[in-house]
Amino acid sequence: MSARFASRAVATMTAGALFGAVTALCVVTGGNHIGNFSLLYVLPIAAFGLSGGLRGGLAGAGAGLGSLGAWAFVEHGDVHVLGFLTRASVFLVVGVLSGMLRDQRSRTGATDRRWFSMSNDMLVEASLDGYFTRLSEQWEQCLGWTRQELMARPFRELVHPDDLAATNVYADSLDRRPGEVSNFENRYLAKDGSWRWLLWSARSDNHRKYAVARDISDRKRLEQERDALLQQVEMTARTDSLTGLPNRRFWDEEVRRAIAQAQRHGRPLAVAMVDLDGFKQFNDAHGHVVGDTLLSDAAARWRMVLRTADFLARYGGEEFAILLPDCKPFEAEGLLDRLRTAMPMSQTCSVGVAYWSVGEGPDDLVAKADAALYEAKRRGRNQVMFAAPGPLD
Ligand code: GH3
Ligand code: MG
Ligand code: MG
Repeated sequence: MSARFASRAVATMTAGALFGAVTALCVVTGGNHIGNFSLLYVLPIAAFGLSGGLRGGLAGAGAGLGSLGAWAFVEHGDVHVLGFLTRASVFLVVGVLSGMLRDQRSRTGATDRRWFSMSNDMLVEASLDGYFTRLSEQWEQCLGWTRQELMARPFRELVHPDDLAATNVYADSLDRRPGEVSNFENRYLAKDGSWRWLLWSARSDNHRKYAVARDISDRKRLEQERDALLQQVEMTARTDSLTGLPNRRFWDEEVRRAIAQAQRHGRPLAVAMVDLDGFKQFNDAHGHVVGDTLLSDAAARWRMVLRTADFLARYGGEEFAILLPDCKPFEAEGLLDRLRTAMPMSQTCSVGVAYWSVGEGPDDLVAKADAALYEAKRRGRNQVMFAAPGPLD
């Protein structure tokens, strides 16, 4: 605001100086030249109009006419009436037109400034070399920085490091496609150290970038909370609460995925079904709670024995299922034997293993492993049994 008044004062002083210069020229040249040089008053009159509006223009025209009148007096009335009236008209027209032009421009400027400050969104203009050049007041409310602070540094300096590369691509693309509006989201550093999510809508005209930004931090936070909740619900729906292992539902998804993978890459895939031996008896002897502990302890130990790529799930009751990708039969045998002997509380388990053959679905594969498990039970339990025929080693 004060800058605007200062520039207006400078313009008025310049007009005054110009007026003085023309008067000085008239005085110095004097006599016959007055008629010619007095027309130069249109310059300070226009300058008064452009700096002070209609009132300034009229005042300038009045001062010009006053000077003319003074000269007429000094020259003892030696001024033609027609010439005086012509000059008076020219002065008036120039004063009125320049003043009206100035008023029109200030009205437009005031409307523009009102729009800029009244908008609920954050408006901004930026130079092509990467500095904000004009910011609406809302920026201060959103980020806590003053507008001067924001304009003093390159605008990319406050962008979240993870969003910087995408922001650069976006900002550069604006300049490559002038006039085209594009939208974008990134995080901006607030003065209190927090990050605000901004949704940008911007375009460039080859001289500047013009953008509207909206603070969408609350929306983003709600979205993140919702996603985390959904993820949690999804995970809970796929996890067995007693052992913490993937449940039957998760298993069904995973076995399909593993078969598709084995088919695509032509790699071996084995499924092992594990069942606790005499668990009913164990429950009867120690109680259901101790039975539960045995189940979760066994699951924890088995997880330690298995490789990270292996997928262990609770299939149901005291039965577990394991996916063993890329595991040759002799490796599987060693691994599952270690698993069998890792049983806690001196209990035992039986294991049936089957290898996937081309064209087999998940149910066929599990049924094959189940049949091997049944055979292990039939042969006296506490052993690993492979389904026949196995794949070539
Ligand atoms: P087998 O050696 O033939 O497998 O005999 P088993 O007793 O283990 O098999 P059976 O199918 O006769 O009994 C399974 C038992 O597992 C019966 C059931 O109460 C118990 N069981 C199933 N789920 C749970 C559970 O979540 N917790 C506890 N404590 N027991 C369970
Ligand atoms: Mg059992
Ligand atoms: Mg069973």
